[in-house]
Amino acid sequence: MKSFDIGGMQAMDFDLIIVGGGLAGAALAVALGKSRLKIALVDGARPQKAAGWDTRIYAYTPASARFLQDIGVWERLDHARLCPVDYMEVHGDRGGRLDFAARECGLTELAWIGEADLLLTELWESLTRQHNVTVFAPAAPARLDHGTHAVELTLDDGRGLSAALLVGADGRDSWVRQAVGIKTHSRPYHQQAVVANFRCEHFHRRVAWQWFRADGVVAWLPLPGNMFSLVWSAPDEIAAELMALPDEAFCQRVAAAGGCRLGGLALETPRAAFALRFMRVADTVAARVALVGDAAHAIHPLSGHGINLGFQDARSLAELLIATEPWQDVGEFGLLRRHARARAEEPFMLQYATDGIHRLFASRNPVLGCARNVGLSLTARLPPLTRLLARYAAQGPHETHILPVF
Ligand SMILES: Cc1cc2nc3c(=O)[nH]c(=O)nc-3n(C[C@H](O)[C@H](O)[C@H](O)COP(=O)(O)OP(=O)(O)OC[C@H]3O[C@@H](n4cnc5c(N)ncnc54)[C@H](O)[C@@H]3O)c2cc1C
Repeated sequence: MKSFDIGGMQAMDFDLIIVGGGLAGAALAVALGKSRLKIALVDGARPQKAAGWDTRIYAYTPASARFLQDIGVWERLDHARLCPVDYMEVHGDRGGRLDFAARECGLTELAWIGEADLLLTELWESLTRQHNVTVFAPAAPARLDHGTHAVELTLDDGRGLSAALLVGADGRDSWVRQAVGIKTHSRPYHQQAVVANFRCEHFHRRVAWQWFRADGVVAWLPLPGNMFSLVWSAPDEIAAELMALPDEAFCQRVAAAGGCRLGGLALETPRAAFALRFMRVADTVAARVALVGDAAHAIHPLSGHGINLGFQDARSLAELLIATEPWQDVGEFGLLRRHARARAEEPFMLQYATDGIHRLFASRNPVLGCARNVGLSLTARLPPLTRLLARYAAQGPHETHILPVF
């Protein structure tokens, strides 16, 4: 490893520094496993698999599953802890309803439901098998300087790293984004997502449910066996109430929110609550810096798309970097612009569509209340449109071919 001076200290030289080893940053490092790039991965902590079920459950789209398969991670996961979604029911607050069936949409499954820590620990396991990654964890970035041909990152313990390109994969409150001065447009939803896993009396038949209600958006995501995961995006005061309920009363409230369709419920994991915020960035690239994952876009969880967007950011950037010639500068701005262009449409579409749906259903205006339910039911009467929506959500814009769907 080459090293040179940062402020009189010897710095370690890499091609790429990734700040943030969450799902997006770790997936990027694994996707570059066979590349010639020397990579430094910096994170505040190393992930650990919880003893039981992780409270954080995500819906992974078929496009994400394919990406994880391509980078050799998907088949290593314990598939007994993943559940495919065959069918989805979306219910409005005044009788509107929209259903999606994987088979009718030309998909094998609409999504996969699984634990965040299951995937994260497997990604980090993959990193340990790679020869081109040096992990700095626990560590945090303290200072970022721009040289002509490199960025120089000083860690909080005084170690110096240098590279042609630095990727900020450090989440919604990204230190990297702030260090390079990329502006954000951010707005709190004044909602919290209350999450927990439950055992249920009846089998869910791999159906996912979502209810738009006066007290928020309730989603039940099927887990293996007789289990499901709850994501209840509720106004702050209702979220506080849900978090404060005794276990049994909480189970009864959640069962009632879903019309008791899976019978009695018992908590499998503790509850957790996450404050929700809309966030768009003015740009996803700057001189020798690119952002991926939540550092580049934060989205309401009602569409279950946050990390799915992050994986496609990682895929796109990895493909560009792998295609570079050995003599090429991987931090060259033209290259980063190509990445920004490639990743402009999908986050934009999904962020605004999700935000629009949130606003539509959060409104107390009676005319809108009627329109949104009619809209759901009308969409349900247009099977080609329903299929198109499902395929866009599952596969992203590049693989959603409109003609074969009709
Ligand atoms: C309730 C809820 C449900 C969700 N459900 C879904 C879903 O079903 N499907 C879906 O696709 N998405 C979902 N999401 C979104 C998903 O959680 C995020 O999109 C995803 O976690 C973003 O991953 P990331 O790697 O970009 O960032 P993060 O997960 O935030 O990871 C950032 C990493 O950077 C590290 N880091 C940060 N700052 C520093 C620093 N200064 N120094 C060192 N390290 C640092 C952190 O330790 C962490 O490892 C949901 C979100 C919520 C809140």
